Amino acid sequence: MKTTRITAAHALATLDRLEETYPEAHCALVHLNPWQLLAATILSAQCTDVRVNLVTPELFKHFPDPVSMMAAELTNVEELIRSTGFFRNKAKSLIGCATALVRSHKGQVPREMTALIALPGVGRKTANVVLGNAFDLPGMVVDTHVGRIARRLGWATARTAEGVEEQLCRLLPTDRWTQTAHVLIFHGRQCCRAQTAWCSACPVVDRCQQVGVGRQK
Ligand code: SF4
Repeated sequence: MKTTRITAAHALATLDRLEETYPEAHCALVHLNPWQLLAATILSAQCTDVRVNLVTPELFKHFPDPVSMMAAELTNVEELIRSTGFFRNKAKSLIGCATALVRSHKGQVPREMTALIALPGVGRKTANVVLGNAFDLPGMVVDTHVGRIARRLGWATARTAEGVEEQLCRLLPTDRWTQTAHVLIFHGRQCCRAQTAWCSACPVVDRCQQVGVGRQK
């Protein structure tokens, strides 16, 4: 379906309405500090936030900070996170990331995108989650929900997460970035799903460029 990108003013008015519709939209990964959010976000790849939240309390009891995780036995970490899937790679990322934090950042999670994406297992999505939710800095998280809905609303045309991030960052003011991702993710889970969009109940149906896309609920 062909879409036309729209103006910043139009997008902001749509975003206002989505924020009114989903006032409860927030980061669903339970965390107490930047290290916990970084670790939880690494675990959330190909896994639900609910499942991650079931696993992290025990994980953080054993490894409350990068120093303890750096010294962890790989097999111990694997067992603790097994149910999140891809547990071998994720365990390596957690230990590698913790080691880099201790060696290069005095055990602290850095507050800059460049430093974050240099950490093992950390891509732009994870870095933006941490920037936006641990440090209250602008972070435009683009997951599959955000990418899909941004295209349906005409906010972006890119097919890659990085391309959508760039287009959304140009379209929207920095102080709206973090919450934009939260509301689009809530909208994607509750209404505008990949295969089944519920357009008849959509709060922004009059502002969408792909009404009727996919199967209709
Ligand atoms: S009208 Fe349909 S396709 Fe458009 S945002 Fe709403 S649910 Fe998604």
